[in-house]
Amino acid sequence: MNFTYVSLPTRVVFGAGSIRGLAAEVERLGAKRVLLISTPGRAEMVRNLAKGLALAGVFDRAVMHTPLAVVEAAREEARKVNADCCVTVGGGSTIGFGKAIALSSSLPVVAVPTTYSGSEMTTIWGVSEGGAKKTGRDPKVLPRAVLYDPELTLGLPAAVSAASGMNAIAHCAEALYAHDGNAIISLMAEEGIRALASALPRIVAHPSDIEGRTAALYGSWLAGMTISTTSVALHHKLCHVLGGFGLPHAETHSIVLPHAMRYNQDAAPEAMARIRKSLGGQEAAKGLYELERQLGLPMRLADIGMKEADLERAARIAVEAPYPNPRKVEYAPVLALLRDAYEGRRPL
Ligand code: NAD
Repeated sequence: MNFTYVSLPTRVVFGAGSIRGLAAEVERLGAKRVLLISTPGRAEMVRNLAKGLALAGVFDRAVMHTPLAVVEAAREEARKVNADCCVTVGGGSTIGFGKAIALSSSLPVVAVPTTYSGSEMTTIWGVSEGGAKKTGRDPKVLPRAVLYDPELTLGLPAAVSAASGMNAIAHCAEALYAHDGNAIISLMAEEGIRALASALPRIVAHPSDIEGRTAALYGSWLAGMTISTTSVALHHKLCHVLGGFGLPHAETHSIVLPHAMRYNQDAAPEAMARIRKSLGGQEAAKGLYELERQLGLPMRLADIGMKEADLERAARIAVEAPYPNPRKVEYAPVLALLRDAYEGRRPL
């Protein structure tokens, strides 16, 4: 048992009502001029939450994919108001803006996640330009403090919750067979899948079930931890490639995941056994497929905008510079995987 374990320094405050400690978290950092970041749709709610904050400005134009032009506008706003801290309230897209500002300015970020993307726990940043997304890892972008308040997720629509939760399960699943995984991360990954797989059906049935919301947010914290220090593999590579074809992030993760697990099934038996345990005894690929179906999520890449004519190109890009993966990444089986995901076939 040889491994390297790295622990990242983010302070985490978890629990219903924890948002009330936001101003105190900012004060702990010694910050006095906060730039508050949100998407346009959530702007009013976020301003209400920020009452009592030492606010210097608001940037409420966060959008998906962190396009460089909008990132530049956010950076300019941070400079203009002389911000000494960014507070992001929202999902992975909003957190992406805090990270992009931190990347060029080293401003500290306090994140209040309201989806299950896990981005708040990672050093991974991404900025898109001309249809391509550039990503990297940099400790500067890691939020200094994260407040997880399940009450803020009660309004997250069932379909968005389900897809975002499957995205989090994907982080855990790949951490279990990461070439640089370790014993602690595997414990977190197993527990993360268990928490999310049991919470998501409850949330879809009753979106305001606070216990279900709490369990899902707990699972997403663990999921974020799992990808914060280990590498992702074929599944994330495929989703990254498909993102370049304009497919939505969380739904793509959800659809591809069972097929990626089927691809790696025989090459990662220990990871598969742990996933099976977390799913209450169901095999990884089939169990995740059934979960996705139970949640009412789209099952076919065809349903979320993928064109059949692009499958071969996607497979070629995916095998060009593959991430380390338990099973060798080869064109023909990767194309077969993509075809299965395109058609939404139940893994055999
Ligand atoms: P998102 O942030 O785009 O949010 C999805 C939708 O939900 C948006 O319309 C948003 O306004 C809405 N929303 C968010 N919280 C809500 C709430 N509580 N109530 C009602 N509506 C709410 O989606 P996401 O899946 O969280 O993030 C996806 C992005 O995050 C992608 O760009 C992806 O690349 C990135 N990501 C990054 C990392 C990383 O480590 N850097 C990890 C995972 C995802």
